[in-house]
Amino acid sequence: MARTKGQHVEKKKSKTAQVTKAKSVKGGKAAKASSKQSMTTAVGRPVTDDQTSVTAKTTENSGYVMLQDTYLVEKLAHFTRERIPERIVHAKGAGAYGYFEVTDDISKYTCAKFLNKVGKKTPLFIRFSTVGGEKGSADSARDPRGFAIKIYTEDGNYDIVGNNTPIFFIRDAIKFPDFIHTQKRDPQTGLKDATMFWDFLSLTPESVHQVTFLFSDRGTPANFRHMNGFASNTWMFYNDKGETWWFKWHFKTDQGIKNLTAQEAEELAGSDPDHSTRDLFESIEKGDYPSWTAYVQIMTPQQAKKYRFDPFDVTKVLFHKDFPLIRVGRIVLNKNPENFFAEVEQAAFAPSNIVPGIYPSPDKMLQARLFAYNDAHRYRLGVNSEMIPVNQPKGTTVYSNERDGHMNTGRNFGPTANYYPNSVNPYGEADGIPEAPVITFRDAAIARHRVPETDDDDFFQAGEIWRRVLSDYDRDHLISNLAGHMGGALKRIQYRQTALFYKADKEYGTRLSEALDLDVKKVKSLAAMSDQERAAATANGTKW
Ligand code: NDP
Repeated sequence: MARTKGQHVEKKKSKTAQVTKAKSVKGGKAAKASSKQSMTTAVGRPVTDDQTSVTAKTTENSGYVMLQDTYLVEKLAHFTRERIPERIVHAKGAGAYGYFEVTDDISKYTCAKFLNKVGKKTPLFIRFSTVGGEKGSADSARDPRGFAIKIYTEDGNYDIVGNNTPIFFIRDAIKFPDFIHTQKRDPQTGLKDATMFWDFLSLTPESVHQVTFLFSDRGTPANFRHMNGFASNTWMFYNDKGETWWFKWHFKTDQGIKNLTAQEAEELAGSDPDHSTRDLFESIEKGDYPSWTAYVQIMTPQQAKKYRFDPFDVTKVLFHKDFPLIRVGRIVLNKNPENFFAEVEQAAFAPSNIVPGIYPSPDKMLQARLFAYNDAHRYRLGVNSEMIPVNQPKGTTVYSNERDGHMNTGRNFGPTANYYPNSVNPYGEADGIPEAPVITFRDAAIARHRVPETDDDDFFQAGEIWRRVLSDYDRDHLISNLAGHMGGALKRIQYRQTALFYKADKEYGTRLSEALDLDVKKVKSLAAMSDQERAAATANGTKW
């Protein structure tokens, strides 16, 4: 079976795994005799017998195990603690090392050093993932794919933490925990539930653009190599003159886009649930290194003020004809991790890891993400997660006055002073680094600012996918993918959600109505209502 083959490849290629194999497979005396380095306890005491517990032998039996067999206790106690908290999102993933190479000069926009010279290569680590499923879930699930990049620059780590989609379901992070709950399991049954999924989305019309993307075949990429990546949020570039631009990252796969049909995805979930993880590892192992071409879209502050869409709303794209892609460089992945847990499971990415030359935009989702990711790592890995080798900056030396904390595995800065200012340490504040620009808020009004409901832009871009981007084949699949999933939701919720697609494009809504056997006239009337009216008309207890 393919699964066994994958495991075999991994062991064969890894020196560490070979040692383990010699010991654990052959075991007993033969293994001991051939080992140069003996097995030890966690603190280095040689282990002379890894197969037999210490017991009290009597004439009747030898089964009473002695607590004094501290090696047995250590072994069991460590085993029961092998799992760390699973990521609440993006639990299932795979990763690899590589580099970012600059191919085109964009230094007029940014003083980010890793971008300052054509030909410059900076090492990186990438982790791809699905979002909603648990650690053992299938790689082929219909789900956005995480696309998280850690570039080890000379100014510290720069993390680009995005998805394989240029947009997101919601534009305000206050909705995020609820949104994720609906993608996970029902609190009573512990089952995934199409009704809770569509109930939330149909009451959150801003999601219709991303939902359209997700239910096209791009929602089930063939694997991690054949999909694009995006930072999704809008960010700021600034140069050393203090000039600023808004920008978006795009990473286009050089392997070409390849997707699975719903049927192929379903079959793979049964026959090879780890197929993307395996595909990435095996491709790199055989020297077929995947790569992506990196582009940015650049917008001036003046253009941002006048653009017809809110450029900081992550449910929207910047149209290419308005802001063409500008090539910057490429990403190549050419080295597999040696240990999945150490390097992939413990990898921790955060959009707040930025370098001089790059700064956040007033995208509400991004602003909250700046807090949430490192907060998640503090919970999952501890306050010193940056000391884990895969997370350590590699292009610079860290000096800070942050000290101590759980699992402080480094030198803890030895004898250096842990306060600033001081007159003893040879470190001070950095000189000559351009400051991020001053941002002024004139008459900023502090309130819960809602996007007015009349904002039909939420539907326009979803409609554009239907009208301009999808082929007939893609449209057929979008409709059948949607109908296949929505068919599991309550009828009133099917009506409410279909009305949103109808608002995006009449033909889109009509075709889905037909596929779900809904009354198109009723869908049309729901589409004409305000959000509140539509919610009331399809509330719990209404008959459809
Ligand atoms: P264009 O019409 O200039 O180009 C179409 C874009 O859609 C390309 O980026 C293409 O990516 C992508 N695409 C092609 N097929 C699919 C598909 N089945 N599902 C999703 N995306 C696909 O784009 P515009 O900027 O004028 O935007 C039109 C619509 O395209 C938008 O409403 C948006 O939904 C979608 N789109 C826009 C992107 C952007 O950043 N502007 C990015 C991706 C999608 P590729 O070259 O990789 O095939």
